[in-house]
Amino acid sequence: MIIVMKNQATEKQIEDVIHWIESVGYKAHPSIGVERTVIGAVGDNRDKEILKYAESLPGVEKTMPILKPYKLASRESHEGNTVVSVGSIKIGGPEFVVIAGPCAIESEEQLLESAYVAKKGGAQVLRGGAYKPRTSPYSFQGMEEEGLKILNQVSARTSLPTVTEVVNPADVNIVESYADMLQIGARNVQNFALLKEVGRSQKPVLLKRGMMTTIEELLMSAEYILSAGNSQVILCERGIRTFETATRNTLDLSAVPVLKSLTHLPVIVDPSHAAGHWRYVIPLSRAAVAVGADGLIVEVHPEPEKAVSDGMQSLKPEKFYQLMDELRAINTAMRH
Ligand code: PEP
Ligand code: MN
Repeated sequence: MIIVMKNQATEKQIEDVIHWIESVGYKAHPSIGVERTVIGAVGDNRDKEILKYAESLPGVEKTMPILKPYKLASRESHEGNTVVSVGSIKIGGPEFVVIAGPCAIESEEQLLESAYVAKKGGAQVLRGGAYKPRTSPYSFQGMEEEGLKILNQVSARTSLPTVTEVVNPADVNIVESYADMLQIGARNVQNFALLKEVGRSQKPVLLKRGMMTTIEELLMSAEYILSAGNSQVILCERGIRTFETATRNTLDLSAVPVLKSLTHLPVIVDPSHAAGHWRYVIPLSRAAVAVGADGLIVEVHPEPEKAVSDGMQSLKPEKFYQLMDELRAINTAMRH
């Protein structure tokens, strides 16, 4: 249920409503907008009728049931768009944000070189995996804590905030101590224990759509994080499995405007894992800007032919610079 406060409601009235919601056994999630405050009351759906009584409390304008299964992720529960801060960078606001870097952290030189390329091209956030969820147990599994330390050092040297994947609930503490944003990868989108754990973190979360999850399931996964107390969630479309085999996955571009209409959370696109080949990354990135994404996460490697993971889909520095030039041109054209 959403409790909509009157626009002249006082702070005291808002606090009293929050206390009342909690006194009847629900969790209150206030969202303070420019015009008015709305309070999401989340809990057992079976006795939600009791929440209608909130209409008689001072400062309350009305109550509205949320019919969607996701509540806090829904547009109704939040006025305007959520803007997520990753270090000093804001995602979901007016600026299109590019996150770039290698699939995996391989060495200090490799990550530092990648970060210089990312920065020179104009990317605002550095990516790099230290815990890699690999299809084969014989593939490189990541440098783990040693990789996180490198990520942290490179971030300090280049002043780029960072995002890195966490695959295990037991590792959330260590990953959040080194990185600015936690990534939940496609394979873990329905790892509910992991979602609850990152929901308790103070760091923002980049939640990737699974290769077989529907848009509604993705939003339900976001709901796990939001309802555990972390409001800083960014959604990422990274391609889904279809009958098509010419690309690694099929980029579901329509997910971007659909998500934008259903949720207030920022939506970014990962063309690299969708395409599986560097050749398609630039055209898909152009489409991502045009379709209204808030940003991109793209794999870049100083020497893709030597990459230990996802080399085939990683852009060489020159291709990355070309991509960034093209994106700037499209962004300018779209603003006119
Ligand atoms: C990655 O970002 O390197 C990754 C493993 O992505 P996904 O979870 O989308 O496959
Ligand atoms: Mn990868």
